[in-house]
Order: sequence, then structure tokens, then C-alpha cells
Amino acid sequence: MSDPDPELRRPTDRTCERCGREEMWRDGSWRVAEVDGERRVGSVYCVHEWDINGTFVPFDDGSGRPAGSA
Ligand SMILES: [Zn+2]
Repeated sequence: MSDPDPELRRPTDRTCERCGREEMWRDGSWRVAEVDGERRVGSVYCVHEWDINGTFVPFDDGSGRPAGSA
């Protein structure tokens, strides 16, 4: 009843900034999203640059070192 929902702590959808692939987190894995019946598979050759709603931001200050190591 009062169980914390682990799904709230992680992104539930993501979009590739390079090829436009869209995925949704479902049943424990990423599934290709469908929009208006069209599967947004993007490019199979793309290395995928995921845009995850700003909820998950990997450190990237251009130095290649973890933030706060200055
Ligand atoms: Zn991609």
C-alpha cells in the first residue's frame, strides 16, 4: 500500500537526440515507443544520445572528471 514506487526514481521514457528513437521503460526493460501506431525505432546504426527529461544528468563539465574533483 505504502510501497515506494521504484519507477518514480528512474526515467520512464527517453528520446535519442541523434536519430529520434523513442523508448519507454516497461516490464523491466526499454521498449521501442509507438506514436500514432508508428514505431519510433530511429537508426539501428546510431549510438544513441539519450535525452532523459533532465531527471538523469551524467556529469559532463568537459573535463572528463567527476564533478567536485577540482
Ligand atoms: Zn539514436
